[in-house]
Parts: sequence; C-alpha cells; structure tokens
Amino acid sequence: MSETKHKYKFKAEIKQLLDILVHSLYTSREIFLRELVSNASDALDKVRFESNKGTEIADKDLPLEIHIDFDEKKNTLTIRDTGIGMTKDELVKNIGTIAKSGTADFLKKLAESKEDATNIIGKFGVGFYSVFMVAKEVVIKTKSFKPEEPACTWRSDGSGSFEIEELEEPLKRGTTIEVHLKDDAKEFAEKYRLENIIKKHSNFISFPIFLGKEKINTISAIWREPKTSIKKEQYVEFYKFLTYDTEEPMFIVHKSVDAPIQFNALMFIPKKSDEFFWMDRENYGLDLYVKRVLIQHKNKDLLPEYLSFVKGVVDSEDLPLNISRETLQENTIFNKISSSVTNHILSFLLDKAKNSPDEYQAFWKEHGKVFRLGYMDFVNLEKYQELLRFNSSFNKDENELTSLADYVSRLKEGQKEIYYALGNSREAIVLDPHLEIFKKKGIEVLYLYDPTEEFVLSSLRKYKDFDFKSVDTADLKKLETLGKEGEKEEEKEELSKDDRKHFSSLLAKMKKILGDRVKDVVESKRLSDSPSCLVNADDTLSASMRKILKMANQDMGKQERILEVNPNHKLVRNLIEIFKKNSDDEYITNVTEQLYGSALLLEGALEDPHILIAKMNELLEKSSEWYLKQSKETT
Ligand code: ADP
Ligand code: MG
Repeated sequence: MSETKHKYKFKAEIKQLLDILVHSLYTSREIFLRELVSNASDALDKVRFESNKGTEIADKDLPLEIHIDFDEKKNTLTIRDTGIGMTKDELVKNIGTIAKSGTADFLKKLAESKEDATNIIGKFGVGFYSVFMVAKEVVIKTKSFKPEEPACTWRSDGSGSFEIEELEEPLKRGTTIEVHLKDDAKEFAEKYRLENIIKKHSNFISFPIFLGKEKINTISAIWREPKTSIKKEQYVEFYKFLTYDTEEPMFIVHKSVDAPIQFNALMFIPKKSDEFFWMDRENYGLDLYVKRVLIQHKNKDLLPEYLSFVKGVVDSEDLPLNISRETLQENTIFNKISSSVTNHILSFLLDKAKNSPDEYQAFWKEHGKVFRLGYMDFVNLEKYQELLRFNSSFNKDENELTSLADYVSRLKEGQKEIYYALGNSREAIVLDPHLEIFKKKGIEVLYLYDPTEEFVLSSLRKYKDFDFKSVDTADLKKLETLGKEGEKEEEKEELSKDDRKHFSSLLAKMKKILGDRVKDVVESKRLSDSPSCLVNADDTLSASMRKILKMANQDMGKQERILEVNPNHKLVRNLIEIFKKNSDDEYITNVTEQLYGSALLLEGALEDPHILIAKMNELLEKSSEWYLKQSKETT
C-alpha cells in the first residue's frame, strides 16, 4: 500500500443499505443510472454556480458536460462529468462514512416495500449507493474545482469497506465513475438499453449528455417556452422527471409573467400527497433558476410551507446570477416573485373550486391536510379561508364538502356563529348529545374529524363576522332564539307541578352525589333523545381543544363542567318516581355516577373506565334479575 492509500469502513447504516441493494433488489435496477447522471448534473450546477460567483476554478474552460461510455466486452460503464469534483476529505465525508438523515428512513421504507423503494431511493440522499445493484466494483476518480487539491480515487466492491488514494497523474476537473458490471447486469453495457434509460429518466437534464460520441438529450427548459407550443405529454414527462412520480400530475400550472418582474413558473400538484412529507421535511420546495441556471434545488421560500405539495421550477431573468442562497430571502425581487407565485397557486385553486368543484374536492381529499396548516398566512388569509373545506351536517354523507361561504349562505336568521363538532367519525358525531338541539332546530354544524381542523378554527377565531363555536360551548339562549320556523314541537307530557318540585330536589341530590366534580346539575333544554350530557361552564374551550392542550402539557386549571339532565327522558322520569319513594335510594347514586361516567366517556375524557364498567355490570346484573322475574310472572 502506498503512503497515501487508506482503507475505511462503511458506516454501519450504509453497510446495511448496501447489503440490501446488492443482495435483494432485482427490479428497476436501471434507476442507478438516473442517480449517477443526476449527481453529475448536480456537480455541474455547483461548478457553474461557483464560477458565476467569481470563484477561481480549475480547468475553467472545460465545457460543462456528461459523458457516458460503455464497453460490452469488458462489461464496464463509465459516467464522467466536468463538475465540481471532490477533494479527498469530501470523498470520505460524502461517500461511505457519514449516513445522511434519510438513510434510516429509507431503510425502513425499504423493509416495507421493495418494489417502490427503487423509485424513491434518490429522494433520501442515498442515490449513489444504488450503483451497487448492478456493480461488482466501483472506482471513482475525481478532481476538485479547487486548483490546489490533488486528484483522488475511491474504490469499493460494496461489501464492508472502501479505499481512497491520492492520484499521482494529473486529472482534469470533475468526476469519473467506473462501473464494473455484475455478470447478470450486462444489459447496462449495451448502447440501445442505455439510450432508452437516459431518455426515460434523464431527458430534461440541462447539460448535454453524450452516449459515446452522440448527444442524446435534446429537450430544453420547457418552462420558458410558450404554453401553446407544449403538449400535455411533454408536461407529464417533465413532471415525472422532476418528481420521480409514476403517475400524471393532478394539476399543471404554467405561468409567464413579464411585468413588473419577469419570471416563468411551471408547477404541478401531484395526484397523491407525498407520504414522506411528515417524515422528510427537507424534501419539498421549488427549484429556483436564474437565466436558466439552477441556483437552488428545493428552495423553501418561494412558496409557504402549507403549499409544499406543489412541485416545479421558477426561473427569472431579473435576479442576478451570482445571488447567494443565503441572501435570497433579503432580496426584494425574490420576495416579489415569491408572493406572486403564491398568489398564482391560490388563484388557480380558487378557480378550480369555483369552476370544477369535483376536481377541487379530489384535491382537498389528498392535500387538504397540509393546506389547512396555512392559517398563519395573514397576507392571503381571505383566499385561504375561501379554500377551506369541511364536512357538515348539511352534507348527505362524509364525502361531501362544505365551504365556509356555503355554510354562511345557509345561516338561520339571526345566527352569528359557525358551529362545529369534533369526533372520530360522522356516525360518532351524529350521536353526540350536544347535537340534539342543533338537529331539532335545523342549525348546520361543521363535522370535524381531525383535531388539527379544530386547531385551525380556534386560531382563525372567525370567518367574516361569524365566530367559530364548538357545539359543547354553544350558548343555549342564543340557540333557542334561532330556527324557530323549522322546529317541530314534540308531543311530550309535561311534568306535574308536584313532580317539578321533586325534579328540582333530585337535581340537588345529584349535585351532592357528584360533589366538586361538577359545578352544577341543571335541567337541560338542549337534549331530546339523551338523558344527560356535560357542558362547559366557562364557554371558551371545547372539550377536545382542552385535550389537545393538555397533551401539549399546558396547565389548563380545573375545568368547570355542568351536568345537564333531560326531564323528558324515560330514565329521568323513573328516577323521579324512585326519588319520591325514597330520596336516599342507592339506585339514584348508581345511576348518577353512571350518567356522569358515560358523559365523560363520550368526550374521551374518562381517565379510568374500570369503575364505570364495574358499575355497569352491577346494573346489568340487577336488570337481568328483574327481567327474569318479570318473564316468570308472565308465563
Ligand atoms: P445526494 O445526491 O442526494 O446528495 P448521493 O448518494 O447521490 O446523494 O450522493 C452523495 C454525495 O456524493 C453527493 O451529495 C455529492 O456530494 C457527492 N457526489 C456524488 N456524485 C458526485 C459527482 N459526480 N461529483 C461530485 N460529487 C458527487
Ligand atoms: Mg444523488
């Protein structure tokens, strides 16, 4: 071994990744070429970027190109670029010894589904290693753009280790990857096969790609071409190239703006929400070009985060080529482009919502979860609110959607609030006792199935002049004045004067039984089908909101609850009779505890179900005895 030769072990995670790539992935192996070409293209972007900044660069006049050569006899393939190259330290750091944050996520994903994994490998920043699906040995020769740095070589068979050595002979700037193909991967040394793969995956690379002597990628920056000259297939092809998506996009937004600032934007909204979004926060953003030169991949400031499902490119003539990524955010022109791009997307969506509601619904189902998080975009708040969608009691099933404008157009006379209820499903919400008065009065209620929806409404506080209000904090007096016209007065037997008195005493008794746990026990005006429910005395936070805040470890203080009891319910009527006979009957205590426990259970606020269940079994036991006795009497 020469003095400059060093042997390194692959980082454990990478070794694990390599083992899987080498031994178990046999489908879509061709994507390794896409990864190597995209690395070459990145390297060329970087050197062009340095050059535009005025940095001193080795071999300044080398054309920026990618060359792919193959040798069918030797079973080899080489990918050469004139990009930024790597120093020895960079080689060690970038390839083999440091696992990127995405590595573990990728491995996890890989364990779940092998087939898809080849489609996503590039997204996790581990694309280079995919070469070991087809290679028995890989040799990298690279010379950094930094003039003083010596050329280096890296060599590995993809098992446990790799070697790095300084090269004696001089090398021109850039990187060559020599792939010694496995015996079962000979196809990747055939011209026809290679040409196909490159056209399929790398056609939009903005540097010339030569296969042998022939330049094979032809397509230019399509976002700068007039809309009318581009066919749908070209858009789709570009989209697939950009996102690795295998499906067509849901929407295509192509904008050319000339004044006051010139820019072109070609953006897409995918059919499927990116499942990695929550896991891999880095993997979003638009690619920013200046005068066709890529300045930044996945820029995070062109669009706000809640529009991060949008993919695409933005290219401007009016930004300086030597702009640094760090100062972009302070650049006024950049900021104007950014707000204009955001505006275009929101207007596009508004137009869809208005003119193609079915398409908008499909969009909402897929991307609404991310979009909802935009409640902090105060500049665009009005558009944001118009784009929000909910399921509501007015809709005939859980798939239909309602906008806030729809809701407001159906307000009852005098209604000043927009009511909502949160629950796990439409079935569950419909059974919520708090909703009974709304049903009776025909007042519309938004049905929320995700706590973030409630979070959004609480943060917005109001839509136009209408406050958002959870059904369990709604003011009964207000509700009573609404919707009179639709109200059907049910036939119910009024309590006698005497029974009324007993009912009042019963309520007092129940309060005594529950003690501090409730602020009061009162007659309910909102219930028609249920015997009782809990409402909030302080009328500000809904029960579910409390739960969220409690989970976030906020000290909520003690909540003031009121137990409402429905005097028209059969159970309560019976209780009055029992109470009349013996006001201290143990049965009253049992039922009161049980009603309270059930109300907590419905809200998901019951901390320990054991007592409730034990008491319920006790009651069931008793009722079974009565039932038996009764059936004996009748037979
Ligand atoms: P990613 O491209 O997502 O960063 P890769 O595994 O494809 O992940 O590549 C790892 C790193 O190796 C790159 O970030 C880059 O620093 C370096 N690299 C790979 N190929 C080249 C190349 N042709 N020229 C210069 N650097 C390269
Ligand atoms: Mg890569």
